[in-house]
Parts: sequence; structure tokens; C-alpha cells
Amino acid sequence: MHIPFHKPYIGNEEIDAVVEVLRSGWLTMGKKTIEFEEKFSRYVGCRNAVAVNSATSALHLALLVAGVGKGDEVIAPADTFVATAEAVMYLGAVPVLADVEREAHCLDVRDCEKRISPKTKAIIPVHFAGMPCDMDPIVKLARDRNIAVIEDAAHSLPARYKGRMIGTIGDITCFSFYATKTITTGEGGMLATEQDDWADRFRNLRLHGIGKDSWNRYSDEGSWAYDVTELGYKYNPTDIASALGCVQLARCEWMLGERARISRRYSEAFSGVDGLIPYAQIPGRDCAWYLYPLKLDLEALRLSRDRFIIELKEKGIGTSVHFIPLYHFTYYKQLGYAAASYPESEWVFERVLSLPIFPGMSDEDVSYVIEGVTDVARKHKR
Ligand SMILES: *Cc1c(COP(=O)(O)O)cnc(C)c1O
Repeated sequence: MHIPFHKPYIGNEEIDAVVEVLRSGWLTMGKKTIEFEEKFSRYVGCRNAVAVNSATSALHLALLVAGVGKGDEVIAPADTFVATAEAVMYLGAVPVLADVEREAHCLDVRDCEKRISPKTKAIIPVHFAGMPCDMDPIVKLARDRNIAVIEDAAHSLPARYKGRMIGTIGDITCFSFYATKTITTGEGGMLATEQDDWADRFRNLRLHGIGKDSWNRYSDEGSWAYDVTELGYKYNPTDIASALGCVQLARCEWMLGERARISRRYSEAFSGVDGLIPYAQIPGRDCAWYLYPLKLDLEALRLSRDRFIIELKEKGIGTSVHFIPLYHFTYYKQLGYAAASYPESEWVFERVLSLPIFPGMSDEDVSYVIEGVTDVARKHKR
């Protein structure tokens, strides 16, 4: 028996859509990307959607357009993927890491507030595993102080906070279509914003600063002439990726249903077992279930999280850990970040492992994971 940690759901429609682009003669950003952006903004309900080549690029451009620069501070959770903090440093700004909520592993609003300073320019809530952060108090904190809210929504297509889609709440929302994310284009990302002038800036910046319509300069409708109005980047997606995105987007609700079904089975099965802490379900915060982060009650077990993962691997069950908090990495230690400032992130990190959860995972495979996990917990009960 072998159950991988993740398997992307790619059907014949995705393959056909990519082949169609390959046969069309137009491979890079063009009409398919515009179609993907239109479909995305309609689905999420955001006014503007601008496609880029990754969520990391999206975060970089979002912070840039929000006015973050040298010496500014940006608050982000310590328990996130490294991209969140990297994007801040690309601009010469300083990531001020904050602690997370014990149940949901999302940015802790009270700790965030404590770390706000006169230099704070933006807050980046990360919707961990697709669980929306508690956005109302975060947005209030920011509005009161003229701070931008840039959401790292790499995990959260689709997720809802108090009925509102993620992508319609903060100033700018950044999505990822990396290979393992809830929909994929291989690599890719999307910026969502209500502000038209910001969307125009994104279109300019993603293609060398040479104008928002410059993508078509090689087409019959386009012209060879263009101007460069600012320092831009090479962050555009390809039409090959966008064609994949259009098909994946059409499957998005179905894929959510699949992950939600698996998460319900996990949570029901683990809730009565000593040593296991199912992932939070919080009213008003509808998770995208990108991950299923299970925590171990180490006080009730005689083994560590690392040993737990090895025993699951021996049973053929693939797992992962989200995330290694940033202060664990050499580079961040050298910058002065240390575990002592983040007791909740550290508490979560010592206990957490991510279980397989992907569309098309069979009921038998889910049962096998449940049996494997409960078996290891029972065997090592304290
Ligand atoms: C995956 C991920 C990113 C980066 O996404 P890319 O599209 O690979 O750049 C950013 N933040 C979080 C929390 C992620 O998990």
C-alpha cells in the first residue's frame, strides 16, 4: 500500500486545453490569460484579477504597489512558507514576524497588534491550510492606522470568511497555482484587488514595465512600438499555464467538495482518539482544506512527531509538515529571529503533520490513513 501525500487532479480536459494552446502558435501570455483572469474574477467576485507566474511574484508586486519600501516593516506570521517573508525583503523592508493561533495556525490578532510600530506599512495574513484568518479585527487594526492588508491566499481558493470569498476582503489578495495547491497551472499566481489603478500597475509591472497591453505586440492587432515607464519584472504567466487554469477553475468547487469530504472523515475519526488533535473547525471561517494539519497531543503519547511520521511512512502513508517556522532556518536565525518570541508557533510545529487530502483520493485510501494514524497513536499511548 502506498498513499502519496499529494496527487494533482489532471484530467483529459486539462491535457486537451494545453495541446490546443501548443497547436495555436501563441504560447506566452495572451488571450487565454485574459480569459483565465475574467473567469477567476467572476468566480471569486473580485473586481480585478491579474495573473502572474507565482504567488511569490504576486506578493512582491502587491507589497510594491502598496508602497512598501526600504526600512518599512511588514507583519507576517512566523509559521508560514518562506515566500511570505522573502517578498518583504525583496523591497528592502523588514518582516516583523508574529505568533499564530494555536487551533487554526493563523496570524494571532493580539500578537499582531503588539508588534505594530510607526514603521508598519502592511500586514500579511496567511490563511493557513485554507482556513481564513480572523479578518474583521485584522482589517480594523490596519484601517485605524492606514496600514495595507495584503493577504497570502496561496492555500485558500476557495475559502469564505463570514460568507465573503477570500479575494474580496483585504486590499490585495495573492493566490498560488503551484503544483500542489488547490488548483494548479504547474506554476502560477493571481493578484485580486478592487482598485483599478493598482490592477493597471500590476499589468505594467509583470511585463517589464512596458504597458498593460504590450503582450500583443507580436500579434496582428499589436504594434512593434512600446514605451517603458518604470522598472518592471518578468512575472507574466504563459497561455499554456492559463489554459490549464481555466479548466482547473471549472473543477474548483468539485475539488473543494472532495477535500471537505476527506477532512470530515478525518476529524470525525480522530476526535475520540487519545493523542490526536483534529484540525479546527471555526464558525464563520470556511476552510479550503488545502491541507489537513493533524496535531499530536504529545502529553498523551510516548513518541515525537518525527517518529510518528516515520511510522506512517513504514505503513506507506505520505505526510508532510506545514510549516517549519521561519526562525528555524539558518538565514532567519542570522537575522535575529528566535523561537522564544513565538511560543504558539513552536507549540504547533512540535506537534503538527499534514495528512494526504486531494481530489480523487478513494474512500479506501482515506480509511487506510485513518487506521494507520489511530494505530500508531494507540500503540504509543502513554
Ligand atoms: C506555496 C506558498 C506560497 C508561494 O507560492 P508560489 O506560487 O509557489 O510562489 C506563498 N505562501 C504560502 C503560504 C505558500 O504555501
